[in-house]
Amino acid sequence: MTGAEFKAAWQRTVWVVTENTYPPGHGGLNFGSTVEVRFSTFSAYAAWGGAAGLTFLLLHEMAHNTPYAQSAYANLWQGYLQNPASGVWGPSNQYFVSNEQNANEVARTIAGAFGWIIPSTLPTHGYPGP
Ligand SMILES: [Zn+2]
Repeated sequence: MTGAEFKAAWQRTVWVVTENTYPPGHGGLNFGSTVEVRFSTFSAYAAWGGAAGLTFLLLHEMAHNTPYAQSAYANLWQGYLQNPASGVWGPSNQYFVSNEQNANEVARTIAGAFGWIIPSTLPTHGYPGP
């Protein structure tokens, strides 16, 4: 995905700050062209890293919609379906956590490419790898 493609995708994305409730571990829901985020989620990212935390949240959600993350998600979802013992899709599920870590990694990569500052401490679920 090029920077121009990323910007085009971002331009098409509608952000909705809500008070809706979501499944455990979800601070909102990402529908691709529309991203719903709870106000409390924005507040938590602001408390985590100020403007850098909010930058990370925006990039994390955009990251979920990149071709790389979508492809990785498709594989993780298949693994999840084939492994019911992994538990409910949420913060205690290894496939869910891997999906979030992937989005964090893409967000970190995009931030680096743009020269944007993100928090130096680990985001929720951290990054892939040890
Ligand atoms: Zn996420």
